[in-house]
Amino acid sequence: MGKLVYGSEISADLRAGLKDRIDGLKAEGKRLPCLAVILVGNHPASLSYIKGKEKACASVGIDSRMYHLEETASKEEVIAVIEECNQDAGVDGILVQLPLPKGLNEKEILACIDPDKDVDGLHPVNVGRLYLGEDGFRPCTPLGVMEILQRMGCDPDRKRAVVIGRSSLVGAPVARLLQDKGATVTIAHSHTRNLPELCREADILIVAIGRPKLVGPEYIKEGAYVVDVGINRTEEGKLVGDVDTDAVLDHVSAVTPVPKGVGPMTICMLLMNTMKSYEKRTA
Ligand code: NAP
Repeated sequence: MGKLVYGSEISADLRAGLKDRIDGLKAEGKRLPCLAVILVGNHPASLSYIKGKEKACASVGIDSRMYHLEETASKEEVIAVIEECNQDAGVDGILVQLPLPKGLNEKEILACIDPDKDVDGLHPVNVGRLYLGEDGFRPCTPLGVMEILQRMGCDPDRKRAVVIGRSSLVGAPVARLLQDKGATVTIAHSHTRNLPELCREADILIVAIGRPKLVGPEYIKEGAYVVDVGINRTEEGKLVGDVDTDAVLDHVSAVTPVPKGVGPMTICMLLMNTMKSYEKRTA
């Protein structure tokens, strides 16, 4: 029987360490790390994500500043707030909550963030740094996946990895991070033929598709390490991943559940990136 590895537990552990470090800063009377979050409009899911981020910051002692702009805000108004945060020496991280309302070009807006405060790792400069192997901010979900693998006791070096999903947010950067750690990586997507057969070669299988329980035992090499990034809501309103966890559990070394798997790691990595920015800027 394989191990179920909970991102929620890893995240709690990392957050406790972060809180200790920030408590230390407080005790020394130092400035605290600060994350600026910019929300445009009132997208219900975004409002709830923002609240979650605010709470997560407070739980470890990171200051958070919320900038809530009207749904009708112009590109210039959004960029003016980003510029203000870029210039503010007290802000370490800037996050623009996506999706932006129709009419605002996300790529254009994200490109206005100072790359050295881009704790979401989505600025083209940080994407370039990732692919060039230079220091920079890595996107939070892929970072969370790598942390989970480490905690599973899985060293990617010399392993075969398959990543299902090639998005710039998850699949592509995860594949790059795995490659950096010495894995031989194949990226699969909706045009990949014989997907189960390909996946059965994988010592490490990362699934980031958005198809409920698509991955069953026929995709699994005995003893593989499996990380399920997918989040899907069933008709009954239940959250499920892309992996049929119960069905694969007997065949894997370890697998993450959904919920309580990768999700909590994403927000945790945002806090870690904000701390990393703070430490660089105050060094
Ligand atoms: P996305 O942009 O929609 O990309 C999905 C990828 O899956 C695409 O590359 C697509 O291939 C591929 N795909 C779709 N159906 C497939 C199939 N039947 N077989 C093989 N590949 C298939 O989604 P995303 O942003 O990467 O997110 C993926 C999942 O992760 C979603 O469920 C999302 O909600 C979840 N997610 C979770 C977190 C978290 O914090 N846990 C964070 C981000 C995303 P093509 O490129 O060929 O279309």
